[in-house]
Amino acid sequence: MAVKKSELAERLDSVRERIAAACARAKRPVSDVTLIAVTKNAVPEQIREIISLGVTDLGESRVQVLAQRGAQINEFFQRRVQLGDLPLMPRIRWHMIGHLQRNKIKQILPIVSVVHSIDSLRLAEELEIQLAKTPSAKRLPVMLQVNASEEKSKFGVAVGAALHLAEQIDTMPALQLVGLMAMAPLTDKPDETRAVFTRMREIFEELKWHKIGGSSLKHLSMGMSNDFETAIEEGATMIRIGTDLFGAPANPDPADDRE
Ligand SMILES: *Cc1c(COP(=O)(O)O)cnc(C)c1O
Repeated sequence: MAVKKSELAERLDSVRERIAAACARAKRPVSDVTLIAVTKNAVPEQIREIISLGVTDLGESRVQVLAQRGAQINEFFQRRVQLGDLPLMPRIRWHMIGHLQRNKIKQILPIVSVVHSIDSLRLAEELEIQLAKTPSAKRLPVMLQVNASEEKSKFGVAVGAALHLAEQIDTMPALQLVGLMAMAPLTDKPDETRAVFTRMREIFEELKWHKIGGSSLKHLSMGMSNDFETAIEEGATMIRIGTDLFGAPANPDPADDRE
């Protein structure tokens, strides 16, 4: 007897189909695109379920939630491995995708695998200082967040300043610049959205041309529930999906990314 799929499993199937279709249109292999499940409106059971369904890249925009949930979820799977319920620890990677204040860096360092939201030299420098306190053989992968839509309210470095800041980050021994991140404008005009993603790809290609980040520079983190197909067509390698996987927030909080 076939087991009925959960709602989350069905939503994931549908997102994966849409990713595959967008990749086919863009003549890109599906393996080019990493799906990051954004957990800000998910409950812990949903996060555990999506990991069990094979989505092990998770994104969070709030520092404290990332630190606490990240630790809880990791522990849950470690315990299952110890108990023999699971053969192997899933390779869970937590992505910090929201605005990061310098005084909160310490909280995320034990958990975070990639920081998408570097938007100033001071933030990069503070991250460098904190990382230097616990020397590690591995550099922390980071992305530069670019305000490609040039909306006043958005975080991110201005388009004109991106190249220079990327160059500076590239000289920091504890940080590894792996790409660029952007959010599309709040608009229902698909042309405007596409133009922002195209501009991001151009900035990315400019960095490559200048050899900034070297062979590690390979990611464009762009595309959310309502625009990820366009983002993939324009070259996204990481898409950040919340609503289409976990449903819409019960209490939408417009200040969510601005804490
Ligand atoms: C919430 C959030 C997302 C996911 O948005 P959805 O529209 O729910 O898919 C992606 N990126 C960032 C930075 C976010 O804050």
